[in-house]
Amino acid sequence: MIDEGLRNELSKQGVVVTGFQDLYNWGRKNSLWPMQFGLACCAIEMIATAMARFDLSRFGSEVFRNSPRQSDLMIVAGTVTKKMAPQVVRLYNQMSEPKYVIAMGACAISGGPFKQGYNVLKGIDRFIPVDVHIPGCPPRPEALLHALITLQEKISKETFTGPGRPRHLDPNAPSEFPIPVCGPDDLTPPSNPEVWRPPTMVRED
Ligand code: SF4
Repeated sequence: MIDEGLRNELSKQGVVVTGFQDLYNWGRKNSLWPMQFGLACCAIEMIATAMARFDLSRFGSEVFRNSPRQSDLMIVAGTVTKKMAPQVVRLYNQMSEPKYVIAMGACAISGGPFKQGYNVLKGIDRFIPVDVHIPGCPPRPEALLHALITLQEKISKETFTGPGRPRHLDPNAPSEFPIPVCGPDDLTPPSNPEVWRPPTMVRED
């Protein structure tokens, strides 16, 4: 670790000193490639974020890829029906590591206005790990940009070693997650307990 005072002195002389970990994270956080797919109305906001008025490319996330194998950011934009959930998990499994997920909108994070519907999944985080949740119906493009910046901050703090290292650097952590199947009444299983652990509600009398 370099002394902060020395680092500041050197930077005044035009000498930038940094560690390999910071350089690695800096490069990765500014070159996220989102996958080009959308599920419902939130996808329209996602498309608007990529257009000229908001211009996602200014934030280092320019190239929407058509193949999951060339993508490292999944933006789950819209309502995830139970019929579509297996396909979303399958696409996630096919993405290259390290990979990240932004769940965009009330539907993607909880079922939203369709939460009571028999056919709508109550949050994609039941099956795949979500890094950033965006509330709202629909979230505006500014909210997606904020989520991207939040994800970039998260990536910039990742460490190579130690208990706080990200999933993709843990050899024992899974890179693929089980794909649920459509049963007669619900998805089987209805959630992946390895991914989704709902908080315990304690009722006080
Ligand atoms: S959160 Fe609202 S805008 Fe987004 S997909 Fe659901 S209903 Fe549509």
